[in-house]
Amino acid sequence: MKEDILHNLEIINTRIKNACEKAGRNPHEVKLLLATKTVSAERIKIALENGQTLIAENKVQELKEKYEDLKAIPHENHFIGHLQSNKIKDILKYDVSCIQSLDRLELAEKLHQKLLAGNRTIEVLIQVNTSNEESKFGIDPDKAIELIKKISEFSTLKIKGLMTIGLFSAETEKVRLCFKILKNLQQKIFQEKIPNVEMNELSMGMSGDLETAIEEGATIVRVGTAIFGARIYPDNYYWDEGKIENKGI
Ligand SMILES: *Cc1c(COP(=O)(O)O)cnc(C)c1O
Repeated sequence: MKEDILHNLEIINTRIKNACEKAGRNPHEVKLLLATKTVSAERIKIALENGQTLIAENKVQELKEKYEDLKAIPHENHFIGHLQSNKIKDILKYDVSCIQSLDRLELAEKLHQKLLAGNRTIEVLIQVNTSNEESKFGIDPDKAIELIKKISEFSTLKIKGLMTIGLFSAETEKVRLCFKILKNLQQKIFQEKIPNVEMNELSMGMSGDLETAIEEGATIVRVGTAIFGARIYPDNYYWDEGKIENKGI
């Protein structure tokens, strides 16, 4: 088990390095984030004890379950799942430094209220739906600037950039288009010079498409399967949950 994880990490780091070389980028510009949904604390520990520093969960419940086991090992925790408003109080208990999946004003408002009350701040990325699939979360690219302007008024939310889950497709060029949309949006937002908004992070690229994402400017790649192996739940269990509930299915 340990050997597999270490071997896979080596492969991923090589893939990142090669992609950076191809794109003429410095590998230090790209952070590897481990997407740890369904992965046991024990296995996550192996990665953290061997040089990894950044992990992320999709569900507050999993964050909570693994928190005690992992807290002694220095690392940074992000959140990459769909966040329900009623889970805000919980998520703030578990040392999450960045919520990458902020995609609506109502959630930002509630987060701000809770953070104000606790006299603290949190980093956020704005999740954008670049694949135009109804099943995915994230703000429409067309509406993102307006949303970011509004969120930027909440002093407790430190906007650091954008996140997207690209299209799942074997057609690299279609996937690339999603990443280009995110990059273009970043450039537009730079031009807007919105106070309190930093736009340096682009979180995009996963096990199957991290090379394309790096070529298009990713600063964070989020990798799960290629390090920890296949998951038993399909990804839409994590990504569509809220929408499935809303439809009453
Ligand atoms: C699971 C997940 C990943 C990682 O996906 P893999 O294909 O397993 O690398 C990345 N981002 C998000 C939001 C995820 O939920």
